This record gives sequence, C-alpha cells and structure tokens, in this order.
Amino acid sequence: MNFQITTLPGDGIGPEIVKEGIKVMKAAEKIVSGFTLDFQHFDAGAGHYVKTGNVFPDSSYKACQESHAIFLGSMGIPEVVEKDGTEVQGQVILRLRFELDLFAGVRPIRLYPGVKTPLENKQDIDFVIVRENTEGLFSSFRGGSEIVNEVVADTMMISRKGTEKITDYAFQLAEKRQGRVLDGKKIVTCCDKSNVFKSLAFFRKVYDEIAEKYEGAVGKDYAYMDAMTLWMVQKPQHYDVIVSENMFGDILSDLAAALVGGMGMAPSGDIGYRHAMFQPAHGSAPTIAGKGIANPVATILSGSMMLKWLADQHQHQEAREAARLIEKAVAATLGQGIQTSDLGGTYTTADFGHAVVSQMEKIS
Ligand code: ATP
Ligand code: MG
Repeated sequence: MNFQITTLPGDGIGPEIVKEGIKVMKAAEKIVSGFTLDFQHFDAGAGHYVKTGNVFPDSSYKACQESHAIFLGSMGIPEVVEKDGTEVQGQVILRLRFELDLFAGVRPIRLYPGVKTPLENKQDIDFVIVRENTEGLFSSFRGGSEIVNEVVADTMMISRKGTEKITDYAFQLAEKRQGRVLDGKKIVTCCDKSNVFKSLAFFRKVYDEIAEKYEGAVGKDYAYMDAMTLWMVQKPQHYDVIVSENMFGDILSDLAAALVGGMGMAPSGDIGYRHAMFQPAHGSAPTIAGKGIANPVATILSGSMMLKWLADQHQHQEAREAARLIEKAVAATLGQGIQTSDLGGTYTTADFGHAVVSQMEKIS
C-alpha cells in the first residue's frame, strides 16, 4: 500500500525536525517493506504569510483533506502575531482540527530510559492524555467572545455528542493499551471540575454513561483539574489514560511533558474518524530555530504514532511493525546517552536522527 502524507513543515524549528521525522520513517519503510510513504510538502504558516499575505493556501488545505494523513512541524513566529494580530496557529492547526473533525488530541507521555526527570524515583511514567479537541473553552474560536463595554467572555461549551465521542475514544484506547491494571481492570481517569461548573458536571455524567459500556474491562477514576496537577507530580505511575476537556488537556499536556524531559519529548496526534494529523506537542521554538540543535524526538515519535494510526485504519501489519521499530530505536538511542542539548546531551538534530536510523538497522 502507498500512503500519501501531506507535510506542513511550517515555521521556526519545524522544517529541521520534520526532516528528521521523515528520514526515520523512510528508513523504517525500507527496513520493514510492504508499504511506501509518499511525503508531499505544502506551504502554511507565518513564514508563508510574510511572503504571500496568505497563512494557509487553499491548495495546502485541500491536500490535507485528500491525503491519508497529515504530518506537521510547527506553526507561528511571535513577531508576526504581534505585528498585525494574525493568529497563525488558529488559521492552520485549529482550522484543521475543527473542519476535519480531529476531535481527539492524543498525547502519550512516557519516560524513556536515560532521560532525566525532575522527579525522584519515578521511573515508571507511561500514560496518555486524551484531550477533547473541538469544543470546551476553545469553542469560541468558531465565533463570539467580542469585547463589549470592556467585558469579554469565552464559553465552556460541552455537548453530549462531543463528550460521548472523546470518552468512548479514551475507553477504547485503555482497552487496547498494555497499560496499568488496577483491581483487575484497565483505567480511564476523568479530569474535570464537576464540583464547580455545570458544563463539567455534564462532562462527567456523560463519561459515567459511556463507562457502563466498558464495565468489567475498564474501571472509572476521577480527578478535579486542580488536584490533578498535584497528583500528576506526586504519583504519575497511577495513570494510564486521562480524558479531559480541551483547555484542561492543553495545560496537563505541558505539565506532563515536563515530567519526561520537556517539550522536545512530547509527541501528539489530532485524530478523527476519517482524518488525522501528527505533530510534536511543542511550538516553533523560534529562539533555537536554524541552529540545528532542536530535539527531534517528539516529531519522530509523532511519525511512529502516524504509522500506528495508518496501520489501524487500513489493517496494515507492516506499518504497525515500522511504528514499533521506530519507538524501540528511539528508546535504545536515548538509553545510550545519545541526546540533544535540551536533555543535557551534545548531539545535533541531524546526528540524533542519524543515530536512530543506525539503531533501527541494527535491531531489525
Ligand atoms: P506555542 O505557543 O507554539 O505552544 P510556546 O511559546 O509554548 O509555543 P514552544 O515552542 O512550545 O513555546 O517552546 C517552549 C520552550 O521549549 C522553549 O524554550 C523552546 O525553546 C523549548 N523547546 C520546544 N521544543 C523544543 C525542541 N524540540 N527541542 C528543544 N527545545 C524545545
Ligand atoms: Mg505551548
């Protein structure tokens, strides 16, 4: 099978890290064989806006819509937003999430061997944050929240349909994962603030209803958002799948990334029923752009997530094997102390990518 991948390298470190992601995936394609990956680059982002006055050309959007998956670097340069209010991320990433209904923001958090954590004796960190991606506190992106008489309000919009979709996704993921078992069951933690907000009490109610379908296999678990930040630091090994509203998931993702080595270690997928986009959870890191020192791990692991998703969508065993090979090679490479400067190492972006490829050749 030939997979068509639309690539949006974007701004800042985007092109540098996307290059390594593609290098590693192409190497996996060659080693495993049985499928091909056709990466087509398209323009989008702040750099393109400066050149043309257009953030996201129709031709790029159309390519995203028509390909098997989207592989994205990062979007935005702070000066461009400050200068004239153009919201680059909103016009590309949020637009794709809303219009292609990429309702599940999936952020695996795993502490790899050899990578330092700010926590002591917490070596077993391996969970996934499932962030609702299209409503919650981000719903005003679709309109509203104007400043009137010096007052403005964003709305926390929670729908039954949206909550059913995201909680069901989380339970299915818990069932599939070789994750933590508590009292003989897998576990999905519902992170909300149902003690204060009606919207989030409704979120929990729908979560409870969906949980009934999985009774016996997956257990329920609750956390209020404020307490969650405490527990995530104190007992991260407790968690396996965490499901939450859009804004809470956004905040939790950065906190969680800090536990496993920082933003350079956090991959993500924005996943829907028909479309999906994969990108590192971090931004364009403009202060280190062009220096060749960015950590490509989040991007390489996002590539592995993409192959896994393609394998699930198309029942394609070789793509799944390639995904596993990449993850194993990243773990082994980091474990040998081959790390970029954000992790305390001395390797460049390109040298790290090269080391992962060599590792794949060795272990395959
Ligand atoms: P955004 O609004 O796009 O999320 P941000 O302001 O949160 O952007 P990021 O680009 O995510 O910023 O970066 C946050 C910090 O982490 C910066 O100091 C950046 O240099 C660092 N950082 C992010 N990604 C990487 C990476 N891949 N390698 C090394 N450092 C990184
Ligand atoms: Mg950020």
